Amino acid sequence: MIELVKKLYETEDLTDDELKQLIETDNAENLAVYADRVRQKHYGKKVFLRGLIEISSYCKNDCLYCGIRRSNKSAKRYRLRYDQILECAEIGYNLGLRTFVIQGGEDGYFFDYYMCKIIHALKKNYPDCAVTLSLGERSFESYKCMKEVGADRYLLRHESADEDLYNRLHPSEMNLENRKKCLYNLKELGYQVGAGFMVGAPFQTTENLISDIRFLQELQPQMIGIGPFIPHKNTPFKNEKSGTLNLTLRMLGILRLMFPKVLLPATTALGTISSNGRILGLQTGCNVIMPNISPKEVRKKYMLYNNKIISGRETAEGLAILKQEIESAGYEVAVERGDCLK
Ligand code: SAH
Repeated sequence: MIELVKKLYETEDLTDDELKQLIETDNAENLAVYADRVRQKHYGKKVFLRGLIEISSYCKNDCLYCGIRRSNKSAKRYRLRYDQILECAEIGYNLGLRTFVIQGGEDGYFFDYYMCKIIHALKKNYPDCAVTLSLGERSFESYKCMKEVGADRYLLRHESADEDLYNRLHPSEMNLENRKKCLYNLKELGYQVGAGFMVGAPFQTTENLISDIRFLQELQPQMIGIGPFIPHKNTPFKNEKSGTLNLTLRMLGILRLMFPKVLLPATTALGTISSNGRILGLQTGCNVIMPNISPKEVRKKYMLYNNKIISGRETAEGLAILKQEIESAGYEVAVERGDCLK
């Protein structure tokens, strides 16, 4: 496999057949070495932290994998108030966070004017910070007005670039074409854009993962979010298996070599399937971690999958421990916006 990893490192691409071999190997240790080399070449040892504020667990969508899907009648629903959101940001800022990620289910309560008010306040209070949104599919006009009041980035995983798989993971009223259209609209409006997918989602094949990589090559996003699929007990996928640590790490390493300058988070889901998952992620090319700064009392209600880590290292209070872990692994926490290099 060393030849394939070297080729990927040197040319930033492989054929479909070669990718298939690399994705399916169980022996790709050198992948992490090369991925770390590329990441250090561009970003040094810096790890960028993003304060994640989960503003709503209401969602009009019914994605089959997701714990806050509308059909889950036992999901606990909440919305953060304006003052709560601003308070989360204040706490996060004082902890050294310089990006706020506003994430939520697709909740009409957070209509455009209200979102603009929130974004405007965040940018006014913290002009040195970036505001990232992750609010699902919205209209071009909605993305436009939120950009105009200062939003910088938008995370919208494409979930699967294969239409058949996309349709097996989503209800019939959702479609891949619209998801892609949203991503291109966001790009056109000047957002730094993040796409991505779950690793080991039900029915997913190696060919599906290759399609995801090809789509990312076409889109050229500034950020790529991937993490293992983890079942949620109140969804149709409750009996499916989680994605594995090894496959997720392999995909992260491949993505780092193909997208040398991309911002690549070691996700909460990766930290959930393995207590050391996020540190292993950093050692395989990741350079972003997103600590949860939502108010403690709502964290367990934003339950996308079983056993989501909600305390300890994951919380703002645990940030000191997280920093220590990052430093023990030989990396350093950067107190800056952490934009994507050109
Ligand atoms: N409503 C927003 C935010 C979704 S939550 C949106 O549509 O973009 C963020 C991500 O969590 C999703 O894009 C999905 O890839 C991931 N996710 C949802 N359920 C999951 C599960 N069961 N296991 C792992 N990741 C999951």
